[in-house]
Formats: sequence, C-alpha cells, structure tokens
Amino acid sequence: MRSMDPLRGQPASTRLEFSRWYRQAKLPQIRAVAFLTMLLYFVYTAIEQHVAQDHLGLRLLAHGLLVPLSLLTVGVMSYFEAWYEHMIRLLCAAPVGAVIANLAFNCGNADFAYFLPEIYLCLMWIFTVSGLALLQATLTAGVATLLLLLATLGEALPPGAKLLHLGWILASLSFGLLSAFVLERAYKVTFLHQNQLVLNANLDGLTGLWNRACSERLLAEEIARAQRYATPFSLIMIDIDHFKSVNDCHGHAVGDNVLREFARLLRSSVRAVDKVGRLGGEEFVVLLPQSDAAQAMAVAYTLQQRIRQFAFDTVNSRTASFGVTQFRRDDSPQSMLDRADRALYRAKAEGRDRVEAL
Ligand code: GH3
Ligand code: MG
Ligand code: MG
Repeated sequence: MRSMDPLRGQPASTRLEFSRWYRQAKLPQIRAVAFLTMLLYFVYTAIEQHVAQDHLGLRLLAHGLLVPLSLLTVGVMSYFEAWYEHMIRLLCAAPVGAVIANLAFNCGNADFAYFLPEIYLCLMWIFTVSGLALLQATLTAGVATLLLLLATLGEALPPGAKLLHLGWILASLSFGLLSAFVLERAYKVTFLHQNQLVLNANLDGLTGLWNRACSERLLAEEIARAQRYATPFSLIMIDIDHFKSVNDCHGHAVGDNVLREFARLLRSSVRAVDKVGRLGGEEFVVLLPQSDAAQAMAVAYTLQQRIRQFAFDTVNSRTASFGVTQFRRDDSPQSMLDRADRALYRAKAEGRDRVEAL
C-alpha cells in the first residue's frame, strides 16, 4: 500500500506540509496551462466558424468568449493565494463546461464524430495537463464522462462507431488516470526525499540530535519568539566531565557509545517542546521555551541527577557540568551562548558535576 501512496503512514503534519508544497509547485503549471488553453480555444473558434454548420453564434460565444474568459480568470486568480480554492473550483468547472457545450452543439449532428476529439482531449487535459490533483481530476473527469455517456449512448451512431467512441473514452480515461497517478506519486516521493535531505542536513550524525548549525538557528528562532511575545526563555549548556579519559581508557568506539547514550538520556529527560542539540564533541545544549532561569535550573538539577544515576556502557558512571542562562532583552544567539559558556566554565572551575547560572 505504501508504494501506492508514499505519504500513507506519515504524520498529519507531514501530509499538511505536502499539500502546501504541492499547491505551490502546481501553481506555475496551472497558470501556464490556463493561458495556453485560452489561446488554443481562440484558434479552435476561428477554425470552427469555418467548418461548423450550425449554432455559429453560440459557438462563438462559448468557445471564443466563455471558455477563454473562465481560463483567463483561472490564470489571474492563480496569482492570489486567497483565491486558490475558488480557482480550483473554476479549473474543475471549465472542462465540464466545454464538454457540455460540445455535446449541446454537436450531439445528433451528422458530423458529431469530427468534434468528439475535443472531448477526448478534454479528459486527458483534466488529468495530465490542467494541474489538478489526482482526486480533483478524477472527480472532474468522472462528471464529464458521465455526461458524455448519457448524451452519446442514445446517439444514433452506427454500432462500430459507437464501439470506437467507447474505446476512445476508455483510452483517454485510463491514460489520463495512470499519468495523473504516476505524476502525483512522483511529487510525493520527491517531497519526502527533500524532507529527508533537509532533516539529514540538520541532524548530528552520531547522536541524532540537532547539529550545531541547526541548534543555532533554533536558538535564533526562540530568541525572536521571546522578543515578540515577551515570554521567558532559557538554555542550558552541558559538557561531560573528563570525557577525554573515556576515549583514552576504553577507545573511541566506547566514547561514541557514551555520547549516544548521553544524548538519549537528555532527550528523554526534557519536554517535547524543548530542543536538544549537540554543539560539538561532548558539549550539548538544551533550549527551554517559556522557561525562566529558576525553571531551567530545576531542569539542570534533574538532568544532573539522572546522569549521575545512569549506568553508561562500559564506563558505568559519568558526571556532567551545566551552564544555565535566561534570555535578556537585546540578547543575540551568540551573547546567550557566550554567557552559558561562562557559566559552564565556572561549573568546571568549581570542581565539575555542578550547575551554575549567569
Ligand atoms: P572537562 O571535564 O574539562 O570537560 O574534560 P574533558 O576531557 O571532557 O574535555 P576535553 O575538551 O579535554 O576533551 C574532550 C574530548 O572529547 C576530546 C575528544 O577526544 C573527545 N571527543 C570529541 N568528539 C568526540 C566524538 O565524536 N567521539 C568520541 N569518542 N570522542 C570525542
Ligand atoms: Mg568535557
Ligand atoms: Mg568540552
């Protein structure tokens, strides 16, 4: 089932993010197709005026004015985010309108068959050209096909011609549906790959925590939020004590494992809204939104306790030192990190396995 819908099983937020991304990705296509189809309808109208036998005035009105006008409206609406839903509705209605006009003008006429390609093309257009999503296209083409079948099955076409007609409808629908399905699936796969690449670029390879660059970005975001809403915000900088001796005594692989265990311990000890990053080596940062220094100190003491009590792989017990600081007006990410670093330095200088705040 996953191969049918790559987004199946993804969280609702990812699906929502996809629909926003998909909308943006489709807009240029919708715009270009609307303008091109409008121009082609002018060409069609000019030819039709020479070859059609009847309803010339109405044909001019429908194909030279109404259909192009609705396509022009779609093209113009595509520039305005707020009109998106209405634009999609019009984009669904336009080809159905074109099919109705075709049937109204040509059904029952001797040369009906010459005008049928417009309808077959319309079905393909809905699926593969219009820029409609798979579900929207399927519903639109479904309505158009239903009208087409209702109008033409009673037609006095020779049995062979009727069979051919049904064959062309089947071909248009199946080619169209398959193309739209493959295209939409490709969009979903591309979106998921792109998401994964962005995530990988933000994650620390060893621990799976946010890496330094991403932690600094998240810090800048939290600072902006704290400034905008005047809410408290604190961070804790953490450094494992005497970590070099782990590598020296047990080797780098054990050191790496301790770092992974340490990271898991940090992540599982804080709230989901808190952000945990690895700044480098055995140095970590925890961002605590909506928390003042006292609350951050309490979190740091909890972490200190949990680290003391944790049995690490091979090395068993370890300790860490903590530098805590609260956001101050006019702080930059660097000024906050510098202050936390000074607090951490003080914790180290005062004997390690300590929490200090500045
Ligand atoms: P202090 O208590 O003052 O923090 O002492 P320390 O030994 O923890 O600090 P120091 O900065 O002297 O040593 C940090 C060590 O961390 C040095 C380096 O070998 C080790 N290290 C840095 N990155 C990694 C890593 O990715 N994996 C492993 N295994 N070790 C690392
Ligand atoms: Mg250290
Ligand atoms: Mg260090």
